[in-house]
Amino acid sequence: MILILLFWVGAAFGSFFSLIIQRCQRAESIISPRSHCDNCQIPISRIDLIPIISFLILRGRCRNCKAKISKQLFINELLFGGLFLLQAQFWFAPLIFSSLIMMLILSIIDFQKQMVPTKLLIILLLNNLIYYFFIKNESILTLSLIVIIYLIVLWINKFYLKIGEGDIDIIFILLLILGINGIFISIIISTIFALISAIFILKANRIAFIPFLNCGYLICLIFM
Ligand SMILES: [Zn+2]
Repeated sequence: MILILLFWVGAAFGSFFSLIIQRCQRAESIISPRSHCDNCQIPISRIDLIPIISFLILRGRCRNCKAKISKQLFINELLFGGLFLLQAQFWFAPLIFSSLIMMLILSIIDFQKQMVPTKLLIILLLNNLIYYFFIKNESILTLSLIVIIYLIVLWINKFYLKIGEGDIDIIFILLLILGINGIFISIIISTIFALISAIFILKANRIAFIPFLNCGYLICLIFM
């Protein structure tokens, strides 16, 4: 019963974050107007805003005009519900859990728009820096080393690799939590998943990499 409730709370967060992501992408206010159908513009009643349940009851359509509601909202609710279930199972430290929430938001935005919002990246960096200094008790000296390596990698990437800069930023931000061994393993796992998806599932030569980095990150957190 508690697990169902937790999943549902996670789904509610997923619904809330989806709204923020959508409004930020459209440069709209987060507070107003109320959630409405994109097709008929009629505000969605509270009863139709219940995460997961409303989508299933309405079969993914607007109650008023029957236009299809984006499946992405439903998927986001499932993903956040799943993340909250994992939290209940593995009890990640609060700063790790907040990093996982931000990584999930970044993954969704990267998957939808193939972009990385700088503001969210900075919040994730600050979150991980607090963990790095206050939980792991690392020194400013090791951080300086990481920054130097980061700048060298950026320089090499500019001329030879041409990987998305946002992906490199995130790898170094996750390094603050995972450490050097963890980040290597997580890059290997992410790359294998990304290659399998690119070849067999998405059949594309350019895919969003952050969702795969997120999978690698999560697997490392669980098994290391
Ligand atoms: Zn409608």
